Amino acid sequence: MRTLVIIIVLALVIMIARRLLARPQTPVKRKSISEHMVQCANCGIYIPEQEALQRAERYYCSQAHLDEDLHE
Ligand SMILES: [Zn+2]
Repeated sequence: MRTLVIIIVLALVIMIARRLLARPQTPVKRKSISEHMVQCANCGIYIPEQEALQRAERYYCSQAHLDEDLHE
């Protein structure tokens, strides 16, 4: 009887653990597909397109780098 209880408890723990592990994977996969990386035209660092500053067809990692490129 004890072994049966242990098996049931273990099965439940494995099921719960699988669900907890499976949940974060879906949003991470979606994010990696939608997140397009662009290169800063000033320093060459890669940043997500959503966070990058765009001017004409060029991308910048920060306002400072955008301004620097304007003065050149
Ligand atoms: Zn930069």
